[in-house]
Amino acid sequence: MAGPGRHFLQIPGPTNVPDRVLRAMDMPTMDHRGPAFADVGKRALDGMKSIFKTQGQVVIFPGSGTGAWEAALVNTMSPGDLVLMYETGHFATLWKKLADRLGLRTEFIEGDWRSGADADAIETRLRADTAGEIKAVCVVHNETSTGSVSPIADVRKAIDAAGHPALLMVDTISSLASLDYRHDEWGVDVTVAGSQKGLMLPPGLSFNAVSEKAQAAAKTARLPRAYWDWADMAGPNETGYFPYTPATNLLYGLNEAISMLHEEGLDNVFARHQSHGEAARRAVRAWGLEVLCNTPAHCSGVLTAVMMPEGYSADAFRKVTLENFNMSLGNGLSKVADRVFRIGHLGDFNDLMLMGTLSGVEMGLELSGVPYRRGGTQAALDCLTGRQQTRAEDAAE
Ligand code: PLP
Repeated sequence: MAGPGRHFLQIPGPTNVPDRVLRAMDMPTMDHRGPAFADVGKRALDGMKSIFKTQGQVVIFPGSGTGAWEAALVNTMSPGDLVLMYETGHFATLWKKLADRLGLRTEFIEGDWRSGADADAIETRLRADTAGEIKAVCVVHNETSTGSVSPIADVRKAIDAAGHPALLMVDTISSLASLDYRHDEWGVDVTVAGSQKGLMLPPGLSFNAVSEKAQAAAKTARLPRAYWDWADMAGPNETGYFPYTPATNLLYGLNEAISMLHEEGLDNVFARHQSHGEAARRAVRAWGLEVLCNTPAHCSGVLTAVMMPEGYSADAFRKVTLENFNMSLGNGLSKVADRVFRIGHLGDFNDLMLMGTLSGVEMGLELSGVPYRRGGTQAALDCLTGRQQTRAEDAAE
């Protein structure tokens, strides 16, 4: 919707692209096989290793996150292989459907969409798999439809405790560069990511980080693959090139975004997201509304999904915030359609942007006649001010 001032894009991705990244992409098209490109490609590939926290192979595709989901599976699995997945929400369900369509057998550990994956349930299932039928465990780190985070280090421990050889695949499409993530340390075999969320880029790039174990699996995996083949990337990537036309201008943007993330410091980026999640949840509770994630340790710093009171439409409420305040909030997806709205607080985002967003939500609740208590924005202000005070005190010590 047009209007004065800036549109508030507060969906949980695609996120707002910082001016520095926009300027970095504002370049003439270049020869992706010419000498100048090698440095751009190399910086992007090496830079992404520092974001995934891996020494292993990183693959960059021109494509959306869905492509990187497919790449993870077609490079490592064979027709009929059994894949264990965890139903954290809409995106876990989509990944499962994609696996079904590729000719894999899939098994879901059912969830209620109000928490991340339960590592104990995964361990129990793996222990029962005495025949070693399960070839991969697939988990969504930050379930963007619900705002629940899965404890990946615990999932790794569960697989090890069961002594199971399955590969661990993790979707970090909405968590990478926003939430703490450690591909190597957590023993992840394939990490799946996308450009349009924590990496602060437009949609259009997707990624796999690949362990040695996954590389070995790729040598014998028999699902058909062409565009997504890791092996085709490896040779040209060594010198910074790609086997087909890379999204050159997005790579300029990616290099700038990686610089920005390291200038801020990844730990500070993660702490910022955590504090915005905490402030948003305090606002929701002060309004007398419920956060969809009901497991405190799993609540997300990336987004907050808010449950509407019974009998009220989340989509009607979102229409009010869009039309009156030029703000887009995320909709409820599939099972929770019209039942929740989602506040995105990730990427290039700061305290005042959160406060503008929460003010828009509070005014929207008032205008749409949703029963709520005043004071959510104040609760968030108190939370953010407290954090800034603590930071100032820490800096003074
Ligand atoms: N996985 C998660 C957690 C997501 O949030 C999304 C998109 O929002 C996807 C997968 C699918 O990615 P894409 O829409 O880029 O294909």
